[in-house]
This record gives sequence, structure tokens and C-alpha cells, in this order.
Amino acid sequence: MTNQSEMITDLVQKVVEQLAAKEKSSISQGDHPSADGMYDSVDVAVACAATAQKQLLKLSLKQREKIIASIRKACLENNEELAAFAIEDTGYGRYEDKVRENILCAEKTPGTEDLVPTAMTGDSGLALVEPAPVGVIGALTPITNPTGTLINNTISMVAAGNTVVFNPHPSAKATSAKMVALLHKAIVDAGGPPATITAIAEPTLDRAKEIINHPGINMLVATGGKPVVKAVLSSGKKAIGAGAGNPPALVDETANIRQAAECIVNGASINNNIFCICEKEVIVVEEVADSLIKFMVETGKAYLLNEAEEKKMTALVVTPDGKANPACIGKNVQKILAEIGVTVGEEYRLAIFRAPKDHPLVWKEQMMPVIPIVSVKDIDEAIDFAVEVEQGNRHTAIMHSTNVEHLSRFARAVQTTIFVKNGPCYAGIGLGGEGHTSFTIAGPTGEGLTSARSFTRARRCVLVEGFRII
Ligand code: NAD
Repeated sequence: MTNQSEMITDLVQKVVEQLAAKEKSSISQGDHPSADGMYDSVDVAVACAATAQKQLLKLSLKQREKIIASIRKACLENNEELAAFAIEDTGYGRYEDKVRENILCAEKTPGTEDLVPTAMTGDSGLALVEPAPVGVIGALTPITNPTGTLINNTISMVAAGNTVVFNPHPSAKATSAKMVALLHKAIVDAGGPPATITAIAEPTLDRAKEIINHPGINMLVATGGKPVVKAVLSSGKKAIGAGAGNPPALVDETANIRQAAECIVNGASINNNIFCICEKEVIVVEEVADSLIKFMVETGKAYLLNEAEEKKMTALVVTPDGKANPACIGKNVQKILAEIGVTVGEEYRLAIFRAPKDHPLVWKEQMMPVIPIVSVKDIDEAIDFAVEVEQGNRHTAIMHSTNVEHLSRFARAVQTTIFVKNGPCYAGIGLGGEGHTSFTIAGPTGEGLTSARSFTRARRCVLVEGFRII
């Protein structure tokens, strides 16, 4: 009996010692941030980010804004190099569009001005609701826009007073490391704490899960497909999920058809269709279908596949198990067309084809510059079908029409986070359209185009006047 209780006491003592050692080591780990923002261990990255968050809180808002200004400047100064590197590393996108992506994120991601407190006053005094930092954020980022997402997330999250542990997509780890090193230097140069942003050097699914479950992570942000959004939403922590889309572009008989054609060609081909907001299928009312296709071809940037070419194309871009062929995702149209024996000039950006409703590319998020065009009888059928193909993602929809009733009816029926009228998809993220940009568009959790305020907690501060017991 004595032996047994001694053994238990010993065991408890050991566990207590181990916990104390772990706590001590994580405290000292937090005091030794890496020189470039990259970390081998999730524990160390979280510990350093936690220390940095306390330091960041001691800085004034003006100092925080200086850090943001330094980030914007560094991204713009290194833009061309970053864009070229990202394309080389991931194999996704077009150089000139990556350059636009980086400028957009550096210039149109809101900073601290986005943090707007609200005040309530009355006989009892003043109540102020302030947007306070959440703490350390675990951010899981996609392969599709590694530069834009890191710039955008860093500005938004740091402007709100948080620090970040990024787990980039494993196939974009080199671009992400380069991006993090640049952002890290910009932050430190402006007087920011050295572990304001941290990233895992060898990101894997297991590392992502470690971040999701780490007790030192206060909030999770997932930008990616359905599984990662589900993973963060099942974590029991505050989480933002920015998930997949399959944006339909609807064209009715009242639209300015030439303008619609130009907008769709430009929108669907930006960065070779890898943006989640890009037009992924066109649904057109039958009486204007021929003119829409004619005008798309007349832009000189869209190649219309004939029936035989369409069959070869479908066999190429859709795998036997019905997925988008990874070898074609984000590639230039010249490369994809060459695979089916078609040669086109450098000015081409998109391949289009007439498709039946059940064509796999109508339903898949293909993320390549190959777009099906489905014609339907009338606006009623167009709206019903577009809602169906959007599949409840609540992501993005585009419509070309001059009929206000049609526009409102589709907007109400599809309920997407972004609804673009008479423009290319990218107007919805502030490129040639009004409003700020975001590369984390939170449809599933409803924050919409995230910005600094999305990464805050509401904190009420009350000043009491004429206090009396009631
Ligand atoms: P992805 O879901 O494969 O990966 C995104 C991130 O999540 C990566 O860091 C990955 O390592 C991690 N991850 C993936 N599955 C996970 C799981 N089960 N548990 C934990 N972590 C996991 O997405 P992707 O292929 O990199 O990006 C393309 C997708 O992202 C498309 O569906 C696109 O629509 C979507 N996307 C959405 C937005 C938006 O703002 N809504 C922006 C960009 C991309």
C-alpha cells in the first residue's frame, strides 16, 4: 500500500517537473525568435509569436501603422521578383497578373483605419466598444495566391494587433518562405517585434493539425478548400473559413453583350483562372448566346473549341475520377491547347466551348483558363441553373444585364458573398471596382471580404456617471 502511494507520489512529481520544464522551455523558446520568420517547430513559432504579441501591444497605433506602411513599401519594391518567383515555384498564374495581385494587396488591404470603435452615451455615462486583438492567429494559406494571401493576411492581422503563425501550402513553401522573409524584415525595420509573423519551414498536413490544436493559438483562419475550412470550424476555437467557390457568370438578353464578352474573357483568364472569384462557367440566355460567343472570340483573346477539340480538351482536363487535372491548373492557355494539338499566339488567354448542363467543368472548380458556356431558355431557367451550379458555396456570382429586376432577383436567389454586376469578377475584390481588397473571402463563416476588424474581439469599456445602486 505504502509502495503504491509512493509510486503515485513519484509519478505526480515527475509529471509536475515535466510540465514545469515544458513551460520554462516554451517561455525561453519565445525569447529566441528566428532571424527570417521561419521555424522548424510549431511550439517554438507559437511561443515566439505569443511573446511578440505582448510586445506589439505596447506599441502605439501610430507605430503599428508605420509597420504596415513598411510592409506595403517592401512588397511594392520587390513586386516583380516576387511575382516571377511565385510562378516559377508553384507553376500557377501569369506574371503580369501576379504583379497586379501584389499591387492590389499591398495598396488596397486596409490598415489600422479599419478598426472603428462604437460609442454609446446616455445619462449613465459612456460605453465604448473597441475592436481588440485576438492574440496569436494560426493562418492556413492556399497554393493558389501565396504572395497575395500572405501580404493581405499579414496587413489585416497585424493592423488589428495580432501576431501570426502561418502554415503555407506545402507546394508553395519556397514562395511563402521568401514572402515571409520580406514581410519579417519590413516589420523589424519599422521597429516591430521580430516574431510578429512566423511561418513553418516544412509545412505539412500534420503541422497544420498541430497549429489547429495548439493551446497557444487563439484564432484560426483557413483560406482553401472545403476540408481545411471544416477542420478549423471543428476546432472549438474562434475560426474564419474562406472556402472554395464555383462562380457562375450569367448573361441575359438585356445585357450589353459586347461589354459582357470582354468582361468575362478578362475575368475568367486573370491569373489563368486560379482566383477563387474567377468566372468558372457562363450561363447565357439562348437568344444572345451566339452573339456573346462571337464577341468573346472578337476580343482576340479567347479561342473557341470546335466539337472534336472540346472532346479532346475534356479528356485532358478532367481526370478519370472526375477531378480537375492538376497538370493543367493555373497554366497558360497556350500550354493546355498545345496538349490537344492546337497552337495559338501569345495574345490568347482563354479557351471557351459550348457545353451541355451536365458537363463536368460546369460543376468543378477547374481553376484553369478553359470555360464552358451553357445556353438556357430564359432568365428564369438561367437563375435556377446558376444557383444550382454555385452549389451553396455563397462565394461569388457575376451577372450581365440592364434589367434591374433580373439583377435583384439573381442576387437574392444566389446569396453569394460577392455579387458583381456588369463587370469582370475581379471588380468584386477592388480591382477596378470600389471597396477594399481581400484574399480571404469568408463565405462559410460570413465575415465577407476580411479586413483588420475581422481579426478582433469586441471589448466593452464603460465609464459610469452619477453611479447609484439599482
Ligand atoms: P487547400 O485546401 O488544399 O489548402 C489550403 C491550406 O489548407 C494549405 O495550407 C493546406 O496545407 C491546408 N489544408 C488542406 N487540407 C487540410 C486539412 N484537412 N486539415 C488541415 N489543413 C489542411 O487549398 P488550395 O488547393 O491550396 O487552394 C485552392 C482552394 O482554395 C480553392 O478551392 C479555392 O477556391 C480556395 N480559395 C479560397 C479563397 C477565399 O478567399 N475564399 C481564396 C483562395 C483560395
